[in-house]
Amino acid sequence: MRYIVGVDLGGTNIVVGAMPEDGSRTIAVRSEPTEAQRGAEGVTDRIAALIARTMGEVIADEHAQATDFLGVGVGAPGPLDREKGVVVVAPNLGWSDFPLRKAISDRIRLPVTLDNDANCATVGEWWRGAARGARNAIGITIGTGIGGGVIVDGQLYHGSSDVAGEIGHTTIDPAGRYCKCGNYGCLEAYASGPAIAVRAREALERDEESALRRMVNGDLTKLTSATVYEAAHDGDALARELVSDTARFLGTGIANLLNTLNPDVVVITGGVTKAGERLFEPLRAEVKRRAFRPAVAACRIVPGELEGTAGMVGAVATFKQQRMGGA
Ligand SMILES: [Zn+2]
Repeated sequence: MRYIVGVDLGGTNIVVGAMPEDGSRTIAVRSEPTEAQRGAEGVTDRIAALIARTMGEVIADEHAQATDFLGVGVGAPGPLDREKGVVVVAPNLGWSDFPLRKAISDRIRLPVTLDNDANCATVGEWWRGAARGARNAIGITIGTGIGGGVIVDGQLYHGSSDVAGEIGHTTIDPAGRYCKCGNYGCLEAYASGPAIAVRAREALERDEESALRRMVNGDLTKLTSATVYEAAHDGDALARELVSDTARFLGTGIANLLNTLNPDVVVITGGVTKAGERLFEPLRAEVKRRAFRPAVAACRIVPGELEGTAGMVGAVATFKQQRMGGA
């Protein structure tokens, strides 16, 4: 048996694990804080140590040998230059133009591939999760930001300069809210976790009645999207309205994708899926209102199945695609 290690590098956590090359299971998966304040070299030291620990566990538990490891796939926040293996900008890590691929392979002396974290999450769900078997799939990862990935005819689509899939920064309102990217009206400025918290705070500042205020003991700076989902679950009217507005915003963005790419599945991952059918039902209704009927009929819109590991699994799959010609 041969093994591939997957690394999902995020601003908050690093998830590392291994898989046999057939992708049949995950082994020795762990999530550790990124400790971004250590800087690029310090974080890379951590990644290398986590890879070594994972390999050690696989060797011990599976009676494997060091030579059984084919390499390491890494998913990192983008934009990236895949050809050079460089993280161009990663605001949450404070990195710019860091040659991550070489920095890791110098430390562990194995082949390393690099791809965008949201691309990896999409490939993970496509290889082993909710988008399994799809020919054309779109993945949307909603957390601190909104990332995306596009699979066309069974291949991850990167575009001409690795920007493809930046669904969070497509415009849903040309005169809309300011987005961190500098543009106005991006989907991310409405439907990311922090954007949902901002909308909740604004509603409460307008004096709207809601259990949300009590849930944060009147301190509106403590509001998060998780508070909103919890209150919606408990029947709070304002929280439910915030979730259905989120569904409308996402549905608008996804309808654009259906008319552009005509996928057979859209898989949504991240914290927002905790809102469950309360989110998905109005979201599907919004897509149905806006996209062409054959595009709607062809497409499933579903939550991801690989909670917490989609990026790591997808990093293994992209290693296979880039180094071995297929996953
Ligand atoms: Zn933006």
